[in-house]
Amino acid sequence: MPSSPEPIRVRFAPSPTGYLHIGGARTILFNWLVARKAGGQMVLRIEDTDQTRHVEDSVQKILDDLRWLGLDWDEGPQAGGDLGPYFQSQRLDIYNQYLQQLLENGHAYYALETPQELERMREKAKKESGGFRYPRPNPLPTVAQGLLAKREGKPVVVRCKMPNDDITVHDSILGDITLSADQFEDFIIQKSDGFPTYHFACVIDDALMKITHVLRGQEHLMNSHKHVALQRALGFPTPHYGHMPVIFNLDGSKMSKRDKEKAVKAGLPPPEIEVHDFRRAGFLPEAILNFIALLGWSTGDDRETYTLDELMQAFSIKRIGKTNAKFDRAKLLSFNTDWATRLPLPKLLEHLKDYATINDLPMRSATDDLFIRLLQACAGFRTFTDLQKKIGFLFVDDEAIEYDPKAVKKVLAKNDGAGYSMLEQIRAKLETLTDWSGASIDALVKALCESLDTKMGNVAQPIRVAVSGSTVSPSIGETLELLGKNRTLQRIDRCLAIRSTS
Ligand code: GLU
Repeated sequence: MPSSPEPIRVRFAPSPTGYLHIGGARTILFNWLVARKAGGQMVLRIEDTDQTRHVEDSVQKILDDLRWLGLDWDEGPQAGGDLGPYFQSQRLDIYNQYLQQLLENGHAYYALETPQELERMREKAKKESGGFRYPRPNPLPTVAQGLLAKREGKPVVVRCKMPNDDITVHDSILGDITLSADQFEDFIIQKSDGFPTYHFACVIDDALMKITHVLRGQEHLMNSHKHVALQRALGFPTPHYGHMPVIFNLDGSKMSKRDKEKAVKAGLPPPEIEVHDFRRAGFLPEAILNFIALLGWSTGDDRETYTLDELMQAFSIKRIGKTNAKFDRAKLLSFNTDWATRLPLPKLLEHLKDYATINDLPMRSATDDLFIRLLQACAGFRTFTDLQKKIGFLFVDDEAIEYDPKAVKKVLAKNDGAGYSMLEQIRAKLETLTDWSGASIDALVKALCESLDTKMGNVAQPIRVAVSGSTVSPSIGETLELLGKNRTLQRIDRCLAIRSTS
């Protein structure tokens, strides 16, 4: 009887050394698509063996941002599963067991150099030949020597004894990649703090968690040869590998979280790099998923708009490209603008509430009805931050409105305070208005324009600046209706009062 094909199992294995990078989001997305399309399983594993780089609360944030993106997992933190624990820091006994096996069968050995000795070796080699590759000691330290050095508190590590053969990684995106034996060195698999290195833990976990396909960024390509060597030494199968294009900024630099520090140093606003940055900046998860799906993958036609479901139908590893992907922020912004018009209102509402909550905005206390009105009043917005700029003034105390000096000068103070005079006139009219609806406010403003034979802007802008502090807000009728009659009049009065004292 023919055996049934192996069930596809993929994994996303973030290190909690920071929040979820946008590149990491693309990695989980592609893995997720592979799993969901094949009816396979998605495993989430936290690679937290580097104690020195651990960032407090990053696991929580990574999980939360994944959920916000709408990407779920079948096994892992919060989901459970039979092949856990899914935190590497809870699997040290397992790694130690395999470490013993490799020490016993000669595929690994204790290495006794101190960091200072290694540094001296590195310096010397650099001077002599330009590069350093750890020279395997001859004879190798014995296990007894290793254990003794450990007991004496010396910084002992364990290294993998690399085979003298070339190693080929069969990559489903890049093809066969062969490295010759002389390009390898005996790399560390257990650090002096007793923790496994990434390579060792990753290989063991991929095998024990029965991972069939490993899709990750090309920055890991050279790691895969080490992983294959370890798999052979441990008697594990090798999963199918695929290495995806690295994501670059438009200027050709690698998109990294350091870009944020660089921008701040240069006095510029930090660019969004992590998923959480985009979330806080008011992007929609649907737009982000759609956009990152096209970073290194396409169906080859002109189609650019995909829901997650549609991506799942269309996705195939075969259509992942080999060349670097470019992160075009203007394009993401236009994707977001499109998605904001495409999403059903309840979805937009959910995302807007999330945006208000995580940014801790005064707007967060709004009712659903009000949120919906805001969404409608600001239709056409690019991000929620744009929306917030337009309507944030509604949620500020009347006395706390800050006037943008440029707006005041241009709209109110210019021409001997023509705007202020206009404001006085319209205030008198507004006070008598009994039906405080957007439509009657608009009609009143229109009638005033006609009677004064002036442009709409000359009437509407002074009111807008008086009530919001700036020149952007929804239509004037909508703006004042949302604000209410009392608050509108109070704000106009305050604005006029500030003028007379300035
Ligand atoms: N923890 C590794 C990282 O965050 C995972 C790499 C891999 O997918 O093997 O880069």
